[in-house]
Amino acid sequence: RLDTRTVRDYIRTIVDFPHEGILFRDVTTLFADARGFRMAVDQLLTPYAGEPIDKVIGLEARGFILGGAVAHQLSVGFVPIRKKGKLPGSVISQAYALEYGEAVMEMHDDALRPGDRVLIVDDLLATGGTAVAGISLCERLGARIVGCTFVIELPELGGRKALESLGHEVNALTA
Ligand code: IMP
Repeated sequence: RLDTRTVRDYIRTIVDFPHEGILFRDVTTLFADARGFRMAVDQLLTPYAGEPIDKVIGLEARGFILGGAVAHQLSVGFVPIRKKGKLPGSVISQAYALEYGEAVMEMHDDALRPGDRVLIVDDLLATGGTAVAGISLCERLGARIVGCTFVIELPELGGRKALESLGHEVNALTA
């Protein structure tokens, strides 16, 4: 029988994680399925067919799993953007606002070269704070953002607007 499941069908929602009242989109069930994972990686790249990309940027932590596969598919290098204190070499840092307080993302200061064309990858776009911090790290090293690609977008949280108002192309596979 023909398998008609879409990427969305492989994602489950966990109620009250990590706090009461939160509906957590869990992509581990997507990653664990051979067909689902391949479909997601392929679809993340569909909008960029024919576009030159020099590096794929993955946002910690699920962006590493997706971004690594995307980079392999494109035969280009992968660059991680990590939470503060995790990268071993010399880094640049970018603070961003969370619901309560702030967080800091970091990238190795020699990870990109001026003019590099980069694709930003993560599992989920909510407020856009994480992606905006990642973009700003890439731009501080002189890279040009080709696009930002996500498996899931939560449109009511405004992430797309935040990224588009900065002039960036946003793609998401499902809401
Ligand atoms: P933002 O910075 O508000 O856009 O939040 C996006 C970041 O939070 C991404 O790195 C996501 O992995 C993570 N995130 C927020 N909500 C969820 C969720 O429901 N499932 C998985 N990751 C989430």
